Amino acid sequence: MTTQKPSTLLVHSDYVPPSGFGGLPVPIYHASTVTYPNVAAMRARDWRRDDGYTYGLHGTPTTFTLEHRIASMEGGRHTVLAPSGLAAIMLIDLALLKCGDDMLLPDNVYGPSRELGTTLLRDCGISVRYYDPLLGASIGGEILSNTKLIWIEAPGSVTMEVPDIPAIVAAAKARGVLTAIDNTWAGGVLFRPFDHGVNISMHALTKYVSGGSDVLMGAATTVDPLLHERIKLAHMRLGLGIGADDAYLILRGLPTLELRLRHHEKSAMTVAAWLSTRPEIVRMLHPAYPDCPGHSHWKRDFQGSGGLFSVVFRSDLEQSRIDAMVDALKLFRIGFSWGGSHSLVVPYLMQSARSAVPWTAGSLVRLYIGMEDPSDLIADLDQAFAGLLPS
Ligand SMILES: *Cc1c(COP(=O)(O)O)cnc(C)c1O
Repeated sequence: MTTQKPSTLLVHSDYVPPSGFGGLPVPIYHASTVTYPNVAAMRARDWRRDDGYTYGLHGTPTTFTLEHRIASMEGGRHTVLAPSGLAAIMLIDLALLKCGDDMLLPDNVYGPSRELGTTLLRDCGISVRYYDPLLGASIGGEILSNTKLIWIEAPGSVTMEVPDIPAIVAAAKARGVLTAIDNTWAGGVLFRPFDHGVNISMHALTKYVSGGSDVLMGAATTVDPLLHERIKLAHMRLGLGIGADDAYLILRGLPTLELRLRHHEKSAMTVAAWLSTRPEIVRMLHPAYPDCPGHSHWKRDFQGSGGLFSVVFRSDLEQSRIDAMVDALKLFRIGFSWGGSHSLVVPYLMQSARSAVPWTAGSLVRLYIGMEDPSDLIADLDQAFAGLLPS
């Protein structure tokens, strides 16, 4: 019979639930503090390992489980999770670069990654240079003695050029330079970065892996334990933990990932086939189409194309008319990010986003094909296109 007061009993309890509960989902463990059985155990615990718990920021059963599942999804061994895709990019940059180092980014890199490079990283004394994403093996000529990291994005998330990844990786390896890929477009299903020798795979789980348009998360995955340790150390020093509920939402999306991606892909191919016959459109920036730069690389290295692609409109259609067409769409909603059930559209002003744009005229519109029936999406595009060209 305890003599402790009710407020103490509300905090402490000896009851331990029995083990062996057979529910299928991974339990959500919320924790900042984790406790130790004694001082010796506390002192012995190493936060770099995932076979013990030190503090909620560095891992819980929920987040460790998600890390292991993302590592296997990417074909890697170790994953570190960050609160957004952009945070994972920053984590990789800060883990691997210091003042005086040089980094190469593709000219079509994800916009906020470019922004990070040209502001905070340059302010830290890191040199950031841009390369033509279709350079291939001749990227070797861009590598300087202080170049430490080459980013690859495949394909570029707006202009969709598909780089020659094996050629870039071989040139980097020959000079001892690390490569990191932004593998978001391929959704963890359509491209195997480590089979191609890439050192780090970054993934915005926010997109296809979540599939819900309701959570932000990023991952940095590696095969090499020493490289993982560098990223893990930076992760701990920067305090980039993720929340248990967010981890649960991502875990919930994993079993249906491939099914969803294949469905987006099938619908996107149907919509793209319609668009490719339209007189308003001069170029399909869809990796499965031969007029997409790097199409042959996609064909050689990828296992599919998912739901995201861009189109270029005739150059005599001014931007204001393209914007009005986008405004007229009803099922396609205007919004960044993608990977969920809703179809999305964004008109991009390319000339301001790049050092060099591969075409000189024509507005670019990016489409994301969601879960709606493709015939309804085509009807929506058809009504919005009406009047763009004189009949
Ligand atoms: C969305 C995205 C990111 C960033 O992910 P967030 O979770 O939104 O920060 C990075 N790279 C690509 C290619 C993306 O599409």
